[in-house]
This record gives sequence, structure tokens and C-alpha cells, in this order.
Amino acid sequence: MRFKDIIGHEELKKKLVRNIDSGRISHAQLFSGQMGCGTLPLAMACIQYIHCTCRHDGDSCGECPSCKMISTFAHPDHQTIFPVNKLKKKSGEMVLSSEFLPLWREFFNKTGGYFSADDWYAELDLGKTLKGLISTKEAENMILNLQLKSYSSPYKTVLIWLPEVMKAEASNRILKILEEPWDNTVFFLVTEREDLLLSTIISRTQSVYVPRIESEELIKQAILMGVQDTTKARNISRLSGGSLLELKKILSGADNTQQRENFEIFASIMRNSYKHNHIEILSAVEDIAAESIERIIGMLIDFSRLLREAFMIHAGMKEISYLWGEEAVFCQKFAPFIDSEDIEAMIENIEQAIRQIRQNGNAKIILTHCFLSICKPIERKNLK
Ligand SMILES: [Zn+2]
Repeated sequence: MRFKDIIGHEELKKKLVRNIDSGRISHAQLFSGQMGCGTLPLAMACIQYIHCTCRHDGDSCGECPSCKMISTFAHPDHQTIFPVNKLKKKSGEMVLSSEFLPLWREFFNKTGGYFSADDWYAELDLGKTLKGLISTKEAENMILNLQLKSYSSPYKTVLIWLPEVMKAEASNRILKILEEPWDNTVFFLVTEREDLLLSTIISRTQSVYVPRIESEELIKQAILMGVQDTTKARNISRLSGGSLLELKKILSGADNTQQRENFEIFASIMRNSYKHNHIEILSAVEDIAAESIERIIGMLIDFSRLLREAFMIHAGMKEISYLWGEEAVFCQKFAPFIDSEDIEAMIENIEQAIRQIRQNGNAKIILTHCFLSICKPIERKNLK
């Protein structure tokens, strides 16, 4: 992965390159940011740049043996650790990243490194509830490998994708190394959920915050993916909130079953608030709260998109709306209830719920408060 393959973030790339060029590479760096904005590809580009023997123009060459080995996750001075698991695991069976490296390599190349934890778990075919994890054995093996002599690079690098899923014992082993850094060993931790990491791990790492992808860059991506109308491309970029994954999701539109399901839940809650049917709303909350955190957050992001769209229609900006079939029909009817007086508070309610759920708050309580607050102005307007 070269820096030039990463969408946007030109300033951040320059800063990362400057740090490596200066030779003062921090021994542990924590890449964080919203999923789909490029945390993992950026970390991989840094790793390739560190190992490249022929850097030029602020990027790795992509051609030297080191670059070739890094891009296939086969460099002997680099280790990649990521959450794994399997269905029907035998009791006591140890599942390690190395076993899944071919699948990881293929998936990384297919997606350019833009994927979420859920995308990866789907690739591992873990079913609905099983998640990946990073075992203590994994941390032990990694430390043993680090003790081997360097093969060709002046540095040894370790990438840990999603350190938040490490078992406590594994976290402690890693923490030990972070506390007493080894010479010429650089750790790259890439997290989706910084709030779940040990505070001691955070304090031992240099933070690299990866912001949302710039809107202009996402417009270019939308056009590359076949959107011909520039207004549409601009609008999809706006809706995707700086995430390439969201952009792809919006483009897959009506074919996306999850988005369809989210729409149906949203429409039903809004209809019930119009009818003052609190019992039905609370029963919907119970169902949503039983889902995984990732699923709930995905749903809330979709709800805020639909509210924004309804507001755009209300404000007379119908031509820049980007809705499909039933979504469009519903939001058209629903738009009169979403005006400038209420939209900001509604979106803030959803964003607050997302923050609280990320911090492991009680989903049922948070969602009850969130939906009843959103429904209030709709009920009020219907009474007029
Ligand atoms: Zn190279």
C-alpha cells in the first residue's frame, strides 16, 4: 500500500512521511478514526514506507523486494495481527491470525484496506453473533517472533488491527512492551473503538487521528464508481459523512438489504409517532436494543440520513435528495413534519445516542430517550 493509493488526507500523509524521514519514529502509534476513513490503509502505507529501500517523492516505491513483501503481508520483519475466530471451533482449539493470512491478504487487496470489523467477520463467515478476538497465544507468538534477528530491515514492525478485542492477558503482554520499548521496533495499533482500550495503552502510544475523508475526494470517488451527475455525486458525498464505506453503501442503495430493513424500522417508528402510539415505539426500541452495538449504530446513522433527507425536501431542495423507491415516497410525505426548527435537535439526539452506545451505555434506556425525543415534535405538529 502506497500513500498515493489512499483517498485524500494529503496533509496527514505529509506529516506521517516527515516523521519517518526524520528517523524519530514513535515506537507505538495508535491510529483512530471513523471506520471507512482510511485508518488501516494509512497504517499499512507507513509500514511499507518504513521498510522500502527505494523511497522517493514522499512515498514508498512499490517495486523493491521490501515493498512487494509488505504488500503481500509476507515481509519477515513485519507481523500482522487481527481478530479471528471460527464457527464450530473444537474445545481448546487455538485460532491465530496466521491461519487466516491468505484470506486477509485477498480481502485487503480487494477492498484496498477499507473495511470494517463487521465486514471482516462476514468474510470469516462467523455467523450472526460470533466475533473475532486476539488471543493471549497470539500476543505470545508475536513477542517470540520479535526476538528473532532482523531479516533485512533496520526496523521491525507490528500491525495490530482492532487492539480493542484483545483478551485482557494479551493486552497486558503488549502493554509491557509498550512500557519498555524495544530498539527499532515499531507498533501500529489501528482501532475502531478507542474507548475500549486500556487507558495505559493509549497513554503509551502516539495518537494519529484520521479525520473524515474530504468531501471533494469522495465526490471524485462517486464519479469513479459511475455516478455521472455531479450534483448527485456531491450529494452522495455529503450523505456519506466522510466514509468511503458509507459512500459504497449509499451507492449500493436499494440492493442493500440492511439499508432496506433500517428504512422499514425508521418508517414504522415515524408512523407510530404520528399516531401517538408509544407502546409500539417502545416495542421497536426493545427489538433494536437486542441487536449488536455495531448494528444499532449502523441503524442510527441511517435514521439520521433519512431525517436529513426529509428536511432537505421540506426546505425545497428536492433535486439534491438521493433516495430510492419507497424511501423517496415515504420521505416526501414525511417531509412536512421535519422543519428547520427541529431538525438540528433531532440529529443531535441521534448523535448523542451513538456516542453513549459506543461508551457501552444501556441501549434500551438510551434508545427510549432518543426516539421519544425525536417523536415529540412530530406528534406536536400532528396535533396542530
Ligand atoms: Zn520500495
